[in-house]
Amino acid sequence: MANMRLDKNPMPEQDPVLRAGNFDEVALGYTPEMAIDEAKRCLNCKNSLCRTGCPVKVRIPQFIAKVAEGDFDAAYEIITSTNSLPAVCGRVCPQEKQCESKCVRGIKGESVGIGRLERFVADYHMNKEVKDEVKVPESNGHRIAVVGSGPAGLTCAGDLRKMGYDVTVYEAFHKSGGVLVYGIPQFRLPKEIVAKEIDNLKAMGVNIINNAIVGKSETVDELFADGYEAVFIGSGAGLPMFMNIPGENLKGVYSANEFLTRINLMKAYREDSDTPIMHGKHVAVVGGGNVAMDAARCARRLGAEVKIVYRRSESELPARREEVEHAKEEGIEFCLLTTPLSIKGDDKFSVCAMNCQKMELGEPDASGRRRPIPVDGSEYDIDVDCVIMALGTSPNPLIKSTTKGLEVNRKGGIIVEEATGKTSRDAVYAGGDAVTGAATVISAMGAGKTAAKAIDEYLSNK
Ligand code: FAD
Ligand code: SF4
Repeated sequence: MANMRLDKNPMPEQDPVLRAGNFDEVALGYTPEMAIDEAKRCLNCKNSLCRTGCPVKVRIPQFIAKVAEGDFDAAYEIITSTNSLPAVCGRVCPQEKQCESKCVRGIKGESVGIGRLERFVADYHMNKEVKDEVKVPESNGHRIAVVGSGPAGLTCAGDLRKMGYDVTVYEAFHKSGGVLVYGIPQFRLPKEIVAKEIDNLKAMGVNIINNAIVGKSETVDELFADGYEAVFIGSGAGLPMFMNIPGENLKGVYSANEFLTRINLMKAYREDSDTPIMHGKHVAVVGGGNVAMDAARCARRLGAEVKIVYRRSESELPARREEVEHAKEEGIEFCLLTTPLSIKGDDKFSVCAMNCQKMELGEPDASGRRRPIPVDGSEYDIDVDCVIMALGTSPNPLIKSTTKGLEVNRKGGIIVEEATGKTSRDAVYAGGDAVTGAATVISAMGAGKTAAKAIDEYLSNK
């Protein structure tokens, strides 16, 4: 008998006042009792619409049925047959726009907490004292190189390894995981979880070489000369955008990417760090996406008063609702319908204020959102000593400029066939943010999966 309660079991969370002063995880996860109760809300629909909303096609009703029975190991088997990073996806996927947006329970009330259940199952498995033995697939003798260890590269590598390929991942940073380790902060996605998921892939035989920048240490052409038969490019979109307004080169202006990378990877907030980050006391974060929320919430945890400056209104904020709510609970102020005009510096070339202008909303633009229009005579200054630009990123041109015959679009995204991830260059495939520009973890994973299947077909027919 299904549990017909209309709302989801709430997620236990750290108290907002406490968590604004630490980097520990905000959401604490379901207990087994909560998970079973939530799983009983699933109607086990025959046509399971939820699955159509999942880019890696997790068999959602089947795994939830196992949770409802209390058989968490079987649930884990079902999830990991299509998703190699369940603890990550359960935490950061925008489920409300994907699987949960299709759930029939969402018509009258809240959808089933699919993401929360996925997280529960993955965490249960991770915390088990006796681990299942990892199956190491037998090698088929064919070598494939993967560029980048973000979700696209890791998924492609994991799927190819399961098919028997010898896979080597080349990663520019000293740590593997892409944005999962250098972008998304610890309080949303603990780094130990990413490390454990990567260890699982390594145990399966995926080889990862860190501090290796393809295009500098070795080009894609040289990888083929080394004997790789196909290359997958999952190098992400790490090049930050700026507004090109006066004052962006002052001390105390950061791109969100640099700010977050320094905090997440280099622990730059610690006094004893080799590359300490400036501790702004009054910080403005420009932008309204997930990256802006992450940067603002990190700055808050470093003790600053933080303002988010966004040129449209609250209903146009592109960040996940949950992140906006969390930011507000933690004391972050939202300066909506506001755009920066310039950043002002003191006599030491450090930021001391930001000149802003109020905006109003006009007719919808090409993106479908109402266009912000400046309000004449509404300029004013806000006192800040640090500005973080979170305006989006684009793919780095390094690989394109060092790989013969690789075509990219106007925004620098590698051009691929959608159904296969095949690029203009024979035996070279690509996916994730390197193709689409900044998107989501699960869409990058979906692209990695598609390419792995296509690479297998290409090499099998060769
Ligand atoms: P990446 O994760 O960027 O990984 C690419 C990897 O390639 C990096 O490790 C990079 O160092 C490496 N690399 C680059 N060039 C080279 C080279 N030449 N040689 C070798 N290695 C190279 N998505 C969500 O779904 N939910 C969220 O909550 C969310 N929050 C986000 C928060 C932040 C702060 C950011 C920045 C992004 C967020 N995203 C979120 C987006 C999501 O993280 C990305 O869409 C996703 O990580 C893209 O995966 P990818 O594998 O294509 O690229
Ligand atoms: Fe369960 Fe909702 Fe999926 Fe139906 S749509 S199977 S109720 S999660």
